Amino acid sequence: MNDRLNDSALLRTQLFVDGEWRDGKGEAFDVLDPGNGSLVARMSAATAADVEDALAAAEAAFGGWAATTAPERAKVMRRWYELIVEHADDLATILTAEQGKPWAEARGEILYGAGFVEWYAEECKRVYGDVIPTNNAGRRLLTVRQPVGVTAAITPWNFPSAMILRKVAPAIAAGCPMVVKPADETPLSATALAELAHRAGVPAGVLAVVPGPAEEVGGVLTGSPVVRALSFTGSTAVGKLLMRQCAGTVKKLALELGGNAPLIVFDDADLDLAVAGAMASKFRNAGQTCVCANRILVQSGIHDAFVERLSAAVAALTVGYGFDEGSEQGPLISDEAVAKVQRHIDDAVAGGAQVVQGGGTHELGGTFFEPTLLTGVRGDMLVAREETFGPLAAVIRFETEEEAVALANDTEFGLAAYFFTGSLGRTWRVGEALDFGVVGINTGLISYEGAPFGGVKESGLGREGSRHGIDEFTEMKYLCIDGL
Ligand code: ADP
Repeated sequence: MNDRLNDSALLRTQLFVDGEWRDGKGEAFDVLDPGNGSLVARMSAATAADVEDALAAAEAAFGGWAATTAPERAKVMRRWYELIVEHADDLATILTAEQGKPWAEARGEILYGAGFVEWYAEECKRVYGDVIPTNNAGRRLLTVRQPVGVTAAITPWNFPSAMILRKVAPAIAAGCPMVVKPADETPLSATALAELAHRAGVPAGVLAVVPGPAEEVGGVLTGSPVVRALSFTGSTAVGKLLMRQCAGTVKKLALELGGNAPLIVFDDADLDLAVAGAMASKFRNAGQTCVCANRILVQSGIHDAFVERLSAAVAALTVGYGFDEGSEQGPLISDEAVAKVQRHIDDAVAGGAQVVQGGGTHELGGTFFEPTLLTGVRGDMLVAREETFGPLAAVIRFETEEEAVALANDTEFGLAAYFFTGSLGRTWRVGEALDFGVVGINTGLISYEGAPFGGVKESGLGREGSRHGIDEFTEMKYLCIDGL
């Protein structure tokens, strides 16, 4: 690993607590390269006591950090942003080694994540309050927005860098310290970011990284009265569990949970846009994102032409080890992930679906999986009910707009949806009718730090990115000044 890095000090295998690197009291664990199963590093693990230490340091740091002016925080954050960009190659290398995605895609994630740091470095200067027209001549009414206090983040392995920056940036911009528990599979991206935050001058205690056993570390973060807000990205099942655990101390919650994104192609769509959008949305990160198109709904009139074009694009994808030049789709994260994709394919085929491309594990072995295209899928099949989280494009045919909207909304999830149409009327009608937090129209790529990202229904609570993302880490206070 070290020989791939320009700055080997970015590879950190300890906890970052109170501005220092230290060994956790837990049993160290292996971080493996999903591309070949080799050992990337042994990572130190936190116990509950380590997490308590991180929270105590965060609590101690809170007053001082909250009292800094917005331009002071912006300056530190700007330095952090610049260091992340400067070290983007190394950060991408660490990310690919522990997560598997192609290196160029990993580098894209680093820059995307850095965008949140840059954006919130500016946005902290605009955390405005209101002056409210008074109801009484002797009174003045106003609101201020103040940092909520110590915050915590629990993040997944699919975007080991961006999911952390998307949470830490608005938190520290608002004046809140944050304690981060990264996914067990991908702690090294988190510690590398902490190293750069430290170099940028983020004060001790303002950022901590505590990898370790999920239940133990998560138990302290959700149970401690010190933590006033939790931001979580991960599965709906774990999100619900954390929500219950946070109930005891009534924390503010931001939850980015699972999705079951529909991507609808109407007869009047531009075929080039629709195919490009479906490829980008479905196969990015080997299909392992919560906004990946999980159900591709295609209207009868365009169905065959779309499938033919999509099939060619799927066949042209290059599967390969993340560090190999030209690799477009890396391995899946685990054997369980492979088993789930295969289960969805088998269930669909047993129900009458056709395999147009792929259909099984890739000849590279390990957790590499063939980019797969199925047609003849129905809404009641597993692949349409559950999030596949793999490189499986499932095409469902429909006849009318009403049918498409009903099919699309027929899920307990509501994160991202996409549709392709050339009609302005349909853009409005369908855009308003879809029960999803994010809707991409004539595009499969919607993520941008300046826009609000988040779900409805069981896909979560709150928004990340944009001016709304900072609300998760502030409380509004109403000041009623009388006796004037
Ligand atoms: P995924 O299926 O993407 O791994 P998870 O929801 O299992 O999604 O994991 C997302 C994050 O939640 C990871 O950091 C994981 O370690 C953490 N996590 C999983 N189970 C728990 C738990 N019981 N308590 C706290 N954190 C958990």
